[in-house]
Amino acid sequence: MRIVIFGIITLFFFCCKRTENQKKTRMQTKVIVAHRGASGYLPEHTTEAKVMAYAMQPDYIEQDLVLSKDDVPIVIHDIYLGDVTDVAEKYSSRKREDGKYYVIDFTYEELKQLNVSERFNPKTGKQFYPNRFPKGKSKFRLHSLEEEIELIQGLNISTGKNIGIYPEIKNPAFHNANGKDISKIVVNILADYGYTAKKDNCILQCFDAKELERIRKELKTDLFLVQLIEFPKDQSKARLEHFVTYANGIGPWYQQILDQKKEGKWTFTKLVEDAHELGLKVHTYTLRADQLGKFSTFKEKIKVLLFEANVDGCFTDFPDKVKELLDI
Ligand code: CA
Repeated sequence: MRIVIFGIITLFFFCCKRTENQKKTRMQTKVIVAHRGASGYLPEHTTEAKVMAYAMQPDYIEQDLVLSKDDVPIVIHDIYLGDVTDVAEKYSSRKREDGKYYVIDFTYEELKQLNVSERFNPKTGKQFYPNRFPKGKSKFRLHSLEEEIELIQGLNISTGKNIGIYPEIKNPAFHNANGKDISKIVVNILADYGYTAKKDNCILQCFDAKELERIRKELKTDLFLVQLIEFPKDQSKARLEHFVTYANGIGPWYQQILDQKKEGKWTFTKLVEDAHELGLKVHTYTLRADQLGKFSTFKEKIKVLLFEANVDGCFTDFPDKVKELLDI
């Protein structure tokens, strides 16, 4: 009898341990990227959004990069300033003929004077995601890539964790037309801060395929490179075969992965399968709890994309929610 009880108890603990391990494995195999920081909760790309993201312990925190007039990589999503700052009030005379204010026309010091707020439509003034942090409230500033790296590396030291960075070179053709080599500047800064090889916990991404290839072959970086792909574009395997010559992964929009829903079950395009066959990782963008698309819950979206479609990771505005759902 004693032996039986002992056996049952042992089995119980063994099962608990196994579930625990399975959970851990599931969590560890899926890469979570805090998209523009914890941008579901605080204005995107502010240091506040980055600190909050850090506290949620994603694998990586993202930085979109645009150069200032004096060649400082600024962490901001667009080459324009009008959708996330009060530039139209502070520097009303500095817009170009198209009515837009460009990051590249302002020095780092000038950019630091701007107030950053939740994303809005500059024509109507309306906040883009109505239930997020209220537009115009509190006080937020722009910052540089170097400031953000020092913040994340500093937190890595003070917390003993090791969270990576995931910078994106924005619109290299536009920078080039304005006489600036953004990739070279960024790759040099990354190297100065110790990011030179795949093991260095930095993934560099870009939509421009020619530029990403140049980053590998001409600028000769050994960093992990992710080729972002827009929709709807050629999804042929031949294109992926070319990506393999310089990139380590792809970053498709999640709609490129979904095919259709039949009798309650999703079918998928060949993209993830083809990429995996070629040894490319797949990090899909962007999973938002307040923009579900064709899904009825965020949980369903995570389940379908991360597990059924079997992507390797995702960009999300809500790293805490994705982590929570992976843990189920
Ligand atoms: Ca991005």
